[in-house]
Amino acid sequence: MTRYSVHRFRAAVLHMYLRIAVIVSLPLSVIYMLFIPTPDNGLVLFTFGLLALWLKWHTRHDNEGSLRFASWVVLVFMCMMLYGAYTSNERLHQEVWMMVFPVVFAPIVAQRERLVWMVAGVVCIALVVLVRPEPLTATSAFVLVTAYLVLGYVTLMLVRHNEQNIERLAHMSIIDPLTKTYNRNYLKEVMVGEINRCRRSKCPLTVIMLDIDYFKMLNDNYGHLFGDSVLEQVADVLKRSAQRAGDYVFRYGGEEFCIVTSGLNRDESSQFAEILRLGIRALDIENGQSPHHRLTASAGFWCVPDLDEITPSALLLNADNALYRAKAAGRDTVVDFDSVRPDKEEFVGTQNAPA
Ligand code: GH3
Ligand code: MG
Ligand code: MG
Repeated sequence: MTRYSVHRFRAAVLHMYLRIAVIVSLPLSVIYMLFIPTPDNGLVLFTFGLLALWLKWHTRHDNEGSLRFASWVVLVFMCMMLYGAYTSNERLHQEVWMMVFPVVFAPIVAQRERLVWMVAGVVCIALVVLVRPEPLTATSAFVLVTAYLVLGYVTLMLVRHNEQNIERLAHMSIIDPLTKTYNRNYLKEVMVGEINRCRRSKCPLTVIMLDIDYFKMLNDNYGHLFGDSVLEQVADVLKRSAQRAGDYVFRYGGEEFCIVTSGLNRDESSQFAEILRLGIRALDIENGQSPHHRLTASAGFWCVPDLDEITPSALLLNADNALYRAKAAGRDTVVDFDSVRPDKEEFVGTQNAPA
C-alpha cells in the first residue's frame, strides 16, 4: 500500500489534467463546429481522443495504468509550451509559458525522471531564446532561465515533501503502532488480493489466528507496560518466522494476531503454525498464574486449496473457529479447522458469510 499511494496520487493528478483538458476543449470544439464554417477537425479529433482516454481511465478505476502515459503528456505539454513561447509577444509575457512547465510535470512523473525534464525545460528555453522572431535581450534571457530554475527547484522540493508525507501517512495507516505488524484495516485489502492471486495461480491460502493464553492474568500480575513489551516480543517472533514473500502478520485485536500465508498444504500449514506457537514458548516469559506457568499461545488455522467462491470473512471466521477449539482443548496448541469440520454447524461457508 505504501508503495502504491504515491503512484495513486500521481495518477490522480494526471487524471485531473485530463479532466481539465476535456472540460476546456469540449465546449471549444462544439463552438467551432456550430459557429465556424470550416471547423478545425484536428481540435475535434483531439477532443474526442481526450474524452475516450478520460472515460477509459475513469470507468476502469485503474488509474495506475495511466501513469505509463505520463511522459507523453509531459512531452505534449512541452511542445505546447514551446509553441506558446515562440509565438507570444512581449505583451503576452512568454515567461509564463515556460514557468508553468515544472509545476505541471513534477507531480506526475517519477522522481528520477524529474531532473531529465528539468534539463529538457532549460534546453527548450535556450532554444526559444535563440530562434524567436523578436530575440530577447541577454538580461531578459538570464532572468527567464534563473526564474525557471528557482521555480523548478522550489516545485520539485514541495512535490518531494508532499510525496514523503503521503508515504509516511500511508505507512501509518496500515501499521499497528505498538507491535509494528500490519493492522486490521489492512487485513481485508490483503485478503482480497491474496484470494484473487491464489485463485489465479491455483495455490492454497492459509489463515492462522493466534491468541496469547491467559494474557489478562499476565497484565494483572505484572502491569500493562510489561504486557505491552510482551506483545512486542510476540510480534517479533511472528514477524521473524513469517518472512517468505506473501507472508503477512496482522494484529487482529488486543493480544490476537492473524497470519496469512500462501503455497503451503495442510501439513505444512500445521508445521508453520507449530513453529509460531513454539517460538512464543521459547521466549520463556513467566506467566505465574497460567496453568502452563509461562507465556503460551493457541492457534487455529484453515488451509484452503481451492479458493473459488471463498470470501475473506469465511476464511477469518473458520480460522477463528479453530482457535476457539484450541482454547477449549486446553490452550498452548494448534488446531486445523478441517480436522474439526465434521461439526457442520460451525462451518462458515461462502453462502452465509458476510463478504
Ligand atoms: P485466553 O487464554 O482465553 O485468551 O485469555 P486471555 O486472558 O488471554 O484473554 P482475554 O480476552 O480475557 O484478555 C485479553 C487481555 O488483553 C485483556 C486486555 O487488558 C489485554 N490487552 C488488550 N490489548 C492490550 C494492549 O495493547 N496492551 C496490553 N498490555 N494489554 C492488552
Ligand atoms: Mg488471550
Ligand atoms: Mg483474545
